[in-house]
Amino acid sequence: MKNLLDFSYEELVNEITRLGLERYRVDQILDWVYDKKVNDFDEMTNLSKKHRALLKEYFAISFLKLLDKRVSKIDGTTKFLWELEDGNTIESVMLFHPDRITACISTQVGCPVGCVFCATGMSGFVRNLSTGEIVAQILSMEKEERKKIGNVVYMGMGEPLLNYENTVKSIRILNHKKMGNIGIRRITVSTVGIPEKIVQLAEEDLDVKLALSLHAPTNFKRDQLVPLNRKYSIEEILNALKIYQRKTGKRVTIEYVLIRGVNDEISDAKKLAEILKNLKVFVNLIPVNPTTETMKKPSRQRLLAFKRILLENGIEAEIRKEKGSDIEAACGQLRIKRKFSMP
Ligand code: SAH
Ligand code: SF4
Repeated sequence: MKNLLDFSYEELVNEITRLGLERYRVDQILDWVYDKKVNDFDEMTNLSKKHRALLKEYFAISFLKLLDKRVSKIDGTTKFLWELEDGNTIESVMLFHPDRITACISTQVGCPVGCVFCATGMSGFVRNLSTGEIVAQILSMEKEERKKIGNVVYMGMGEPLLNYENTVKSIRILNHKKMGNIGIRRITVSTVGIPEKIVQLAEEDLDVKLALSLHAPTNFKRDQLVPLNRKYSIEEILNALKIYQRKTGKRVTIEYVLIRGVNDEISDAKKLAEILKNLKVFVNLIPVNPTTETMKKPSRQRLLAFKRILLENGIEAEIRKEKGSDIEAACGQLRIKRKFSMP
């Protein structure tokens, strides 16, 4: 049985016309699935009984099974724990802003990169998500909350560019007018920095927003935080970003998780400004959500000083407001589990 959510628009037109249905039926089916969140062909009342039966033989419409859901008392941020068909679990998050809803979605079960401050990285790597499993996170959250998601960030569990094909396909599906219908400028891919994949993404003609998780201004420091840096140096990654920027003309976001006494020195801020000076960037400073007892956030004063140095050197920067920390839904807090433990 095939999962309908794995298919791009063009592929679906092929599949469905091959079964003998007229082409316009595709749009009707997509309206049921992507707009009305219907995942049972029997409910698609504008299709004949014969067609419904035929479609049911070929396709499943695999929304995700909700295992658990937690809502932040501070800001309403909602975290979803889903069970996949093979029993693995992943998490997604819905964040509420006054004018829009943002979804934070996963691309892998676990993550092979193993950044030392990240709960996902510490829980190991199991497998890549399928295209349909990435897309289903959005549809399942929208169905559950009866609300439309306006922005998507690929900042949940896993490294999107290590699951390149499925990530790119899911972006095209979420962006397609007759499918997810989410504007391409409202979709952001966050990566730890895989140079050849960043260059490949530049050539996709996708125009998706890119965020790079940098976290340190020197290879010496970054090697300790992001093990993959020993394979791909900062210079190689920033070069790839330049190529991305030249192709897309887009400003790139730099994410920098600040850890007290590790990468929050004034000299780090100065070096950071130096290495970013030839790029069009916006720096997001993220006080770490501690995942070990020895790890601490910088003081408020230090955060402000760090930001000021970037600004003084012509680099735009902001300190990211934390959301959902009371339910472990903030950046880097997602990990593999069966059920949420009681707070
Ligand atoms: N693998 C991708 C996307 C998922 S992680 C990446 O690394 O970019 C999304 C963001 O959460 C990254 O910027 C990551 O560095 C950040 N993050 C991870 N652990 C964190 C923690 N403990 N506190 C704050 N941010 C964290
Ligand atoms: Fe993987 Fe991103 Fe976590 Fe690093 S920060 S371990 S790349 S999910």
